[in-house]
Amino acid sequence: MEIRKTIALVAHDNRKKELAEWADWNRDALHNHNIICTGTTGKMIEETLAKNAGKKQQYNITRLKSGPLGGDQQLGALIVENKIDMMVFFWDPMQQQPHDVDVKALLRITVLYNIPTACNRSTADFLVSSGLFNMSYTPKPMDVNDYLNRKIDTD
Ligand code: PGA
Repeated sequence: MEIRKTIALVAHDNRKKELAEWADWNRDALHNHNIICTGTTGKMIEETLAKNAGKKQQYNITRLKSGPLGGDQQLGALIVENKIDMMVFFWDPMQQQPHDVDVKALLRITVLYNIPTACNRSTADFLVSSGLFNMSYTPKPMDVNDYLNRKIDTD
C-alpha cells in the first residue's frame, strides 16, 4: 500500500448525510488520496467536497455503478485486484437493501483481503487519524494455502 491511498467511500441512503459530513470534516486528510465511490455516494461526495474546496484542494474521485446496480460488486472486484487500500462503508443496520447479498459479499472480501474497513464514523475517524494513514503499509493477507492445496475427492 503506497503513501497515496485509494479509499473506497460508500453509504446507504439513510447514512449518506453522515458520510458527507465525515468527508467534509476530513477533507484535508482526504485530498492527498484517490477516492472511489459507488455511483450515488460518489455524486454526493463530489458535491460536498467541491462546496468548500480551497483553490489547491482538488479531489480525484472515481464513480462506479450505483450499489444496487453492481457498484458493490465492482468494488469487491477491485479489492481482489489489490486496487483498493481502505474502505469506509456506512451500511444501514436498520433497513434491508435490495442488494444485501452484494453488501455481504463486499464486506466478506474486505476481511479476506485484510482491507482496513470502517462501518461507522468513529472507526473512520480512527483510520484517518492513524499514524499509518499517510505511510506506506503492506497488509498481511489471510493465509489461504490450506484452502488452495486441499484435496478434492473426484472418485
Ligand atoms: P450508491 O450505492 O452509492 O449508488 O447509493 C450504495 C450501496 O452500495 O449500496
